[in-house]
Amino acid sequence: MTTVKKKRASRAKKSAASSQFKTFEPYKLSKSEEYMNQDQMDHFRRILQNWKVNLMEEVERTVGHMKSDATNFPDPNDRATQEEEFSLELRTRDRERKLIKKIDESMTKLDEDDYGFCDGCGVEIGIRRLEARPTATLCIECKTLEEIREKQTA
Ligand SMILES: [Zn+2]
Repeated sequence: MTTVKKKRASRAKKSAASSQFKTFEPYKLSKSEEYMNQDQMDHFRRILQNWKVNLMEEVERTVGHMKSDATNFPDPNDRATQEEEFSLELRTRDRERKLIKKIDESMTKLDEDDYGFCDGCGVEIGIRRLEARPTATLCIECKTLEEIREKQTA
């Protein structure tokens, strides 16, 4: 039974890892370039779109897998393992859905010419930070402050 468990755990881990957006060519910034010009917006739209497609495929795979895997095990231990696995996948799916929503919000910002600026203080978030976190809505300083505040209230 332990081998079955191990195999399932590693599969769940793999699906969580692939929720990350795929690699892309970092944007080649030229010296006199204006922040969030058309090229840069296209660059981030592409990243966000690919990421979203990726996530949606992931969600579909999870649902399909849960359907095909829903067996009635006679052994209560097997049943428990399966329930554990399903609840893990449901949580993953929930996380993916939330992420898709954030990606949609970022794309709306791109449409409205509002992408890449801090929601807190209005400064440029920066190309490299956005490449690392395409759904970022705060600059590093505001994000850090927010995290400190969250820690204090927690
Ligand atoms: Zn800020």
